[in-house]
Amino acid sequence: CGIIGYVGHRQAHEVLLKGLKRLEYRGYDSAGIAVLNSSLKVFKKQGKVSDLEQFIQDQDVSGTTGIGHTRWATHGAPNDVNAHPHLSSDKKLAMIHNGIIENYDTLKKELEKKGHRFISETDSEVFIQFIEHIQKHNQCSLEEAVRLALTEVVGAYAIVITSKDNPDQLIAARKGSPLVIGVGEEKKEYFLASDATPIIEYTKEVVYLNDQEIAVINGDGLSIKNLDDEHQNPYIQTLDMEL
Ligand code: GLU
Repeated sequence: CGIIGYVGHRQAHEVLLKGLKRLEYRGYDSAGIAVLNSSLKVFKKQGKVSDLEQFIQDQDVSGTTGIGHTRWATHGAPNDVNAHPHLSSDKKLAMIHNGIIENYDTLKKELEKKGHRFISETDSEVFIQFIEHIQKHNQCSLEEAVRLALTEVVGAYAIVITSKDNPDQLIAARKGSPLVIGVGEEKKEYFLASDATPIIEYTKEVVYLNDQEIAVINGDGLSIKNLDDEHQNPYIQTLDMEL
């Protein structure tokens, strides 16, 4: 189970696949990526990162924003459909999630009553549709919808979300599962990962996101809030480690 995200000037899939390989030691049963160019595309496969690599070989995976995931199944069998990223029902949002949402069944039933349909058996798909529902219902920003969702979700998570409507933006949050943000040397590219190993070849400047914090990365840089909607000053550390 590993998470990786990238926004910047490089081809995202290259950073993502390399990163997922560095996270392989954490163990997993499936792997997937989502890349954004004019559309939002998801590629995912049960099996190894090398199987995913083969699967995307002849496909258009271009784009400079993307997210990637290795899954260790907790809810739903290890298969292509249950692999991450998961999409919102309007297919505008893609999310990767490490962890477990304990109250997913209650949330799922409420969402189903409101017309939501699910294609996977995962707690994670419930999570992204819950965020989608809140955003539509409250007519708020994605960041605010994520914050509101996190005040109701019970469990552990590290998540990264990308949105077709905001191709230069990544939103990340964590509770109980680790998440590191790499600040690119020119501050115009950012990396997200479960640990620093996929990041250090690009930058040694990192921010360890604290529990119950939400990070928003976009053209203006990095901003961090807590679940009470208060701004937090990102503490940038310089890593003293080599590959
Ligand atoms: N609970 C999620 C699932 O089963 C995420 C598992 C993980 O941490 O990889 O899909």
